[in-house]
Amino acid sequence: MQSDNRTFLVIGAGISGLLIARQIHDAGRNVRVLEKGRGFGGRMATRRMGGGRFDHGAQYFTVRDPRFQFWVDRWMAAGIVRKWFCGFTEERNSEGHPRYIGIRGISDIGKWLSEGIQVSRETQAKELRWNDPGWTVRTDSGAVYSADQLIITTPVPQALELLDGCGVAFPAEAFEALNAVQYEKTLAVMAHLDGPSALPSFGGVKVKESPLVWLADNQRKGISDTPAVTLHSDSVFAQTHWDSPDELRGNLLIDSAKRYLGAEVTHFTCHRWGYARPKQTYGSPFFHHPPSGLLLAGDGFGGGLVEGAALSAINAGGVLLR
Ligand SMILES: Cc1cc2nc3c(=O)[nH]c(=O)nc-3n(C[C@H](O)[C@H](O)[C@H](O)COP(=O)(O)OP(=O)(O)OC[C@H]3O[C@@H](n4cnc5c(N)ncnc54)[C@H](O)[C@@H]3O)c2cc1C
Repeated sequence: MQSDNRTFLVIGAGISGLLIARQIHDAGRNVRVLEKGRGFGGRMATRRMGGGRFDHGAQYFTVRDPRFQFWVDRWMAAGIVRKWFCGFTEERNSEGHPRYIGIRGISDIGKWLSEGIQVSRETQAKELRWNDPGWTVRTDSGAVYSADQLIITTPVPQALELLDGCGVAFPAEAFEALNAVQYEKTLAVMAHLDGPSALPSFGGVKVKESPLVWLADNQRKGISDTPAVTLHSDSVFAQTHWDSPDELRGNLLIDSAKRYLGAEVTHFTCHRWGYARPKQTYGSPFFHHPPSGLLLAGDGFGGGLVEGAALSAINAGGVLLR
């Protein structure tokens, strides 16, 4: 059998990038990940602040596909994930689809996936060049990385920006479909309370009470030792207040959440998610361009949500290693 000496470079250490890298690494191949942020997990993000801990991006995930369940079972066995609740009201708590969370925060999944893999953090890919064959990636610090196969797992508009002028002419139809992938914005507020919140016992509420779509009590989730709530806005509010000061947009969301809080906010901070969730996806689990060795994956392909991003990565891993 022919040996496979291809080198792989992954841009993005969210669930999709790390799951692809994990599969390549576990198959004994050479892979490196570049991540512009400080942490692992991308939008599966947990932040420590003022003694509290907050999941401020993805809050939980569902599992419908056995291929994703395989990974979730490993995370449960490793003691980093548990079932949170089934269904959204206290009455329905034992029914419906299970929701899973990170026991000490959702970002632990990214940390687990990255173990043993070369991940260069605080390293932003800036310029991509196809050298026919192979790729070079220049980063914000001027470092240059080369690989035979390039895998981009950033939100699709960011991937297209990076690919602009890279030296590859992609099929027009695919390019059009990639350009059509769009995301919604969300504003998150992370707020400390001076006492327990009035949220339901398991700690999460999905609402349609504009400008709010979601509230979570990170203490009830078991993530934070102190009362710490996460609020998420709808996309209209996020768009309207994208450039407003935190003082204004944060307080507007906190006022809307008053009846759920049940305690006073002592301090808060805001986070802008420019690509929170895809509102239109690509239509297949990944984009692969074998002539150049380029693959694009992530929730913009897999149908949104953590499971969609993971399935995109699982499908992509299979193709890359075939
Ligand atoms: C507020 C919010 C709430 C959500 N709630 C849920 C939920 O409850 N349940 C659910 O299932 N899903 C939820 N989601 C969606 C879920 O988080 C995503 O679908 C999933 O995490 C996407 O993973 P990904 O790997 O495709 O992308 P990402 O997690 O975005 O990973 C991409 C990575 O690429 C990095 N990157 C970008 N550009 C560069 C560059 N130039 N160089 C290097 N690195 C770069 C980014 O920093 C990031 O780490 C939520 C998302 C948000 C924002």
